[in-house]
Amino acid sequence: MDLQLTDKVFIVTGGSKGIGEGITRSLHAEGASVMIATRSEGAVTEHLLKELRGEGGNVHVIYGDLDTSEQCKHVVAKTVEHFGRIDGLVNNAGVNDGAGLVSGPEAFRRSIRVNLFHYYDLVHYALPWLKKSKGSVVNVSSKVALTGQGGTSGYAAAKGAQLALTREWAAELLPHSIRVNAVLPAEVMTPLYRKWLDSTFENPMEKEREISAKIPLEKRMTTKSEMAAMVVFLLSGKSSHTTGQFLFVDGGYVHLDRSLT
Ligand code: NAP
Repeated sequence: MDLQLTDKVFIVTGGSKGIGEGITRSLHAEGASVMIATRSEGAVTEHLLKELRGEGGNVHVIYGDLDTSEQCKHVVAKTVEHFGRIDGLVNNAGVNDGAGLVSGPEAFRRSIRVNLFHYYDLVHYALPWLKKSKGSVVNVSSKVALTGQGGTSGYAAAKGAQLALTREWAAELLPHSIRVNAVLPAEVMTPLYRKWLDSTFENPMEKEREISAKIPLEKRMTTKSEMAAMVVFLLSGKSSHTTGQFLFVDGGYVHLDRSLT
C-alpha cells in the first residue's frame, strides 16, 4: 500500500529511542521527512540520524526538554523554518516516573508536567500549520490510562488526559479536517521499559517472561515497528475517515478474556 507520505513533514517527540525510533524509521521508509524533538543529546540519536541520512532520508533533530512551552514553540518554529510545512505531529515523549500516592503533591505535579503539558503545547503551536495541511495528530497514550498500574498516579492521570484530549481535539478540529487519534501501547520493549524492569524487580528476566506469557496473541511483546505501523497509518491519508479513536496495539492484552492466558 502506498501511504503517499513522500515529501510530507512530521514532528515525532522522543523520536530517536523506543517507540518513537520505530515511528521515525517507518516514516523514513515511506519517504517522509521527520523532525525529531528529544531531550538527551548523544550517540543513539546521532547514530540514527547518520544511518537514515545515509539512506537519503530527510531527518533532523531538535534537542531540549519539552517540559517548557518555550521549547515546544521552538520545535514548531524550527520545523517550519527547516521544512516549510507540518503535515502531522506524533506526541510520544513520556516517562512512567512512578509518582504514586506516597510520592506527594510536588512529584505528582511534576509528572503531569513532563507527561501531559507538551502534548497540548505542541498541538497549540503547530495548529496554523496543521490547518494548512489538514494534518493528523497521534497521541501515544498507555494502557495504564484504563487499567491502572499502581504507584504511578501522575503518569496514569496524564495518560488518561491524553485520551480525553484526543476526543476533545478531534471534535474541535472537525471543521479543519484535522484528525486526532490515540494509540495505546501495553508492553513494548524499549529503553524506558527495560529501565523499569531492571530497576523494579529482583529478577527482571523472569518478570519479562511472566509478562510476555500473559499477552494473548503469540505470548510476546508488541514490537516497535508494530506500534509504528499503526501510527504511520493514522498519519496517512489512508485513514482519512478515522478520528477521535483509541487504537490498542497490544496483542489483545487489555480486552481479551483472561482465561485465554
Ligand atoms: P523511551 O524508550 O524512554 O523513549 C522515549 C523518548 O522520549 C526518549 O528518547 C526520551 O528522551 C524522550 N523524552 C521523554 N521525555 C521527554 C521530554 N520531556 N522532552 C524531550 N524528550 C523526552 O520510551 P518508550 O517506551 O518508547 O515510550 C514512548 C511512549 O510510549 C511514552 O509516551 C510512553 O508512556 C508510552 N508507552 C510505552 C509503553 C511501553 O511498553 N514501552 C507502554 C505504554 C505506553 P531521553 O532519552 O532523554 O530520556
